[in-house]
Amino acid sequence: LGPSEQAVLEKIDEQNIDFLRLQFTDILGTVKNVSIPASQAEKAFEDGIYFDGSSIDGFVRIQESDMRLKPDPETFAVLPWRTREDEEEGGAARLICDVINTSTGEPFEGDPRHVLKQALDRAEEMGYTVNAAPEPEFFLFEEDEDGRATTKTNDAGGYFDLAPKDLASDVRRDIIYGLEDMGFEIEASHHEVAQGQHEINFEYDDALSTADNVGTFRTVVRAIAAQHDLHATFMPKPIPRINGSGMHTHISLFTEDGENAFHDGDDEFDLSETAKQFTAGILEHAPALAAVTNPTVNSYKRLVPGYEAPVYVAWSDRNRSALIRKPAARVPSASRIEARFPDPSCNPYLAFAALIHAGLDGIEKGLDCDDPVRENIYEFDEAKREEYGIDTLPSNLGDALDELEDDDVVLDALGDHVSEKFLEAKNAEYDDYRVDVSDWELDRYLEKF
Ligand code: GLU
Ligand code: MG
Ligand code: MG
Repeated sequence: LGPSEQAVLEKIDEQNIDFLRLQFTDILGTVKNVSIPASQAEKAFEDGIYFDGSSIDGFVRIQESDMRLKPDPETFAVLPWRTREDEEEGGAARLICDVINTSTGEPFEGDPRHVLKQALDRAEEMGYTVNAAPEPEFFLFEEDEDGRATTKTNDAGGYFDLAPKDLASDVRRDIIYGLEDMGFEIEASHHEVAQGQHEINFEYDDALSTADNVGTFRTVVRAIAAQHDLHATFMPKPIPRINGSGMHTHISLFTEDGENAFHDGDDEFDLSETAKQFTAGILEHAPALAAVTNPTVNSYKRLVPGYEAPVYVAWSDRNRSALIRKPAARVPSASRIEARFPDPSCNPYLAFAALIHAGLDGIEKGLDCDDPVRENIYEFDEAKREEYGIDTLPSNLGDALDELEDDDVVLDALGDHVSEKFLEAKNAEYDDYRVDVSDWELDRYLEKF
């Protein structure tokens, strides 16, 4: 065993850990768990843990189902809500794993974490490391008597409101303690615009750690909300006609010498040519990217005008209606772009991989970025959008999947295995929705016709 593995074994001992949860993520972004007694840790590091890949969404068929988990020792973290210091019973910790194909011994190409690593390899070949910081928004809802989620919020707060209106601030505080216990550096938390809606921002990190963190974040938020008998949801638009939940993703590239490749102090927007080309790449591929960054039927109920979520494919140095915004940066190292279209129902590994490949494609092709749009694009009519050459995002999942099928850059970002399984699963999801009859239709038509 290497020194990082040894260090984990020591921590298991010191911190009285009885169980290890080995985690990985399926293609749809769900975190999967295999629990092993801590006594098996050494063996898990040495030989890996075998599991049946055919029971995981989008992995493999039954005849090629043996897969192996390889725990990444850098991801060891104690699960605070499973650990009671004053009790004799030991606690639980998790390790995030890479998935290995047992027949070749190589990384499994259907593992989303591997897909992101491939994107980071490409960036590295071009001389860059990638930093990312997400802003996942979520709603806290009350549970009914049977413990099932409702869409009733437990507070009546609004943007940045404080107690007593913001009753959820106790829950948010506990969530933040839980996240800090797991090694998160929390930058800020606030009540979002909608009732019952919250946002907790954590410090940026390299894109792989950030994607790992998104999975952990969603797990911690849900677990601690549940302790308060609340249901936390990352569904993009749980309530119609008010703001939905986005997962704005801040991205910057750094050079090998640790310089921010997105910063240029001489530029009007403090953005380098590289940053603009990267932005142009994302704008160019946005309609196809949406299928990955906004992968549910419900995602497209959020991407409508008027609720601070983007609809139009343009960038801005101020405007929140744009797809990409250049946030104000206090110091050069903080120059970055904010992709505003992703939502927290995405698989963070696949979403980051797709965004990075699209951006790198922009750099490789030297794509030009148009001028930023400073007006409120929601108020533009079609003629004005045409005059500015502004495209729109797909208006439903079906159209987004069609765009994805035609975009080789984004398909290549996912790789053959993942793109095939992803399209299969998502087309089936969309078809199932398409043939369903909604309450809206019944309300509107049942008695009328
Ligand atoms: N909730 C908005 C969205 O759907 C974003 C609000 C904000 O700017 O933080 O993207
Ligand atoms: Mg927000
Ligand atoms: Mg934001």
